[in-house]
This record gives sequence, C-alpha cells and structure tokens, in this order.
Amino acid sequence: MPPVLPSESGPHTAELATAVEAVRLAMRVCRRVQSGITPDVLEKNDRSPVTVADYASQAVVCRAIAVAFPDDRIVAEEDSAALRQPGQAPFLTQVREHLAASGLNAADDEVLAWIDAGGGACGSRFWTLDPIDGTKGFLRREQYAVSLALIVDGRIEIGLLGCPQMPPEIGARDAGGGSIFRAVRGRGAEVSAADEAAGWRPITASPTSDPAAARLCESVERQHSAHDLSARIAQDLGIAVPPVRMDSQAKYAAVARGEADLYLRLPTRADYRENIWDHAGGVLLVEEAGGRVTDLDGRPLDFTRGQKLTANRGLVVTNGRLHERVLDAVRRVGA
Ligand code: AMP
Ligand code: MG
Repeated sequence: MPPVLPSESGPHTAELATAVEAVRLAMRVCRRVQSGITPDVLEKNDRSPVTVADYASQAVVCRAIAVAFPDDRIVAEEDSAALRQPGQAPFLTQVREHLAASGLNAADDEVLAWIDAGGGACGSRFWTLDPIDGTKGFLRREQYAVSLALIVDGRIEIGLLGCPQMPPEIGARDAGGGSIFRAVRGRGAEVSAADEAAGWRPITASPTSDPAAARLCESVERQHSAHDLSARIAQDLGIAVPPVRMDSQAKYAAVARGEADLYLRLPTRADYRENIWDHAGGVLLVEEAGGRVTDLDGRPLDFTRGQKLTANRGLVVTNGRLHERVLDAVRRVGA
C-alpha cells in the first residue's frame, strides 16, 4: 500500500500547513534579497546580502510559528544581538524593507522580537530553523535551503526544506521559484514547486543497490567535510564518477528524490559537533523517502542533546539499500 501522504488529514496537519507557508514566504524573501546581489558584492567578498536575508528569513518563519503556535519554542540559528548594535541600523532597515515588500509591515522592535523568538531552548516539543543553510551557496547563486523541523520527544515529526535553486523536476534547467520538500513521520515525503499553491508529488530514494554505481554528494567547502577521506571511501566502494558538490541541506533533498544515492559528511576536526538545524529538516525527508541516516558509527542521530548532535560524529545518508555497505567502507577506510 502506498504511504498516506502528508497532504491528507492526520497528525500535525495545522503545523504542516503553517510550516509550508512560512518556508514559502521565507524563500520569496531570500530570492528578493538575492536578486539585488551584484557582481561587485561577490568580488568584494561582501557578506551583507546573506546577513540581511538570514535575519529576514528567520523573522518570517518565527513570526508565522509564534502566531499559529504561541506556546511552541523555536531554536533557530540567528539572534538579533549583532543587529541591535548602533552601526547595524542600515541592515535592520533593509530587513524591515524586505519584509514590508513581502507584505509584513512592522516596526524595528517588532522585527527584532520576531528574530529573537528563535532563541528558545530545546524541550519536549520545539521547532528548529536554519533560516539560510548554505550561506556560501546563496552568495554564489548556487544551492541553499531554508530548513525547518518540528521535534517532539526527541523525534523529528515534521521536516521541511525550501530550496529556491532546485527545480521541482529533476534535471530541469530552470529552477523557477524553486522547490519545497516536506515530510511528516510515517506519512512519506513530497515535493512541490514553491510558487504553486498545491501540486504535491511523492518522492522516493533511488533503488540503486550496486555501491559502484552510487552517485555521491558532499559539501563544496572542504572545511565542512573531508574531501580526501570521501575520495578514499568512494574508491573502496568502486565508485568511478566524481562526487557532486553542493552547498546546504539540498544534499538531503537530492538523496530523498533519488537524484543522488549517497551523502557523506566527514568531520575535518575531531571535536566538531553538528548543529541540529543543519540536519533536522533534511533527515526526516530522507527517512520518509525510504532512505537512511546515521552517523559514521552507524548510530541514529540523537536530537535529545540540545543544539548540537553531541552523541554523533559525521553523517552517512543513503538511499537505504546502500547503507550497510557504505558503513563498512567507512570503517575500512578508518574515517
Ligand atoms: P555545507 O553546506 O554542507 O557546506 O554545510 C553548511 C553548514 O556547515 C553550515 O550551516 C555550518 O553550520 C556548518 N559548518 C561550519 N563549520 C563546520 C565544520 N568545521 N564542519 C562541519 N560543518 C560545519
Ligand atoms: Mg546551516
């Protein structure tokens, strides 16, 4: 029997509807900020557009959740401390103007309060948000994602990724307004064009069971995942095709819809621990699409430890069928 899709009524229907609309609006704001990026911004290595979009995206999403679920906590990546400094007033004005252009008129104080609504603590029920995951991808006009998840008793119940640069159809040249991916625990994973009101389609991970045929993806940034080690793991598995490098949790979306078979995240420092908002949105998508997510030791990710995945190191994300074979290769290579 096909899984019941999240779009149908069931648990968390109201939460899902709120989350989808929030992510959709955040994507629109991000695209609006991005459209103002000029070549000289890139030449000067000026990060201000991503700063503005980051705050605006967080304000939009936190506001939507606070209105619909005033008792819920939100654990988001940003806070307004830097934005409150006197020298930062022009940024705050820009954030406010982008929000107003998207239909959210608010005073400075209100905008700051929306951003700080994301400063909640992890508890038995909370949302976690990365307002822009893949900031380098945003500046490069490559992949980035708005990532939002609802975690209840340490389990991800809802996972969403807004990927403004991913076409809703695999391989399409034009991303249009991008894609929204969503999953509800036990109810499957779906994709929709971000600028459509409806039109959700189920997605599934690939059926690939031959490790040598696996399409591997990993971070663009070599500081975020050890490229030399992934090359050795790929060699051990017999993979001849070079990895696809992309920024952000778009990598989870690629595995969830069968565009890639494997995503490796290999620590470059022994003491690095992953942030929950860098993964929660993507993990449930992959699992509900039939894939698997563990750390390098094969342990499930433990979302009960606070803002960081302190009980885990690195990540192995696969279509499911390849998982044990990949963990074996990770062990053999000694990652
Ligand atoms: P990616 O788009 O895969 O390069 O991952 C982006 C995320 O990597 C950011 O949101 C950061 O939180 C996270 N990050 C920052 N430093 C590190 C690091 N040393 N190792 C792994 N991830 C990192
Ligand atoms: Mg991030």
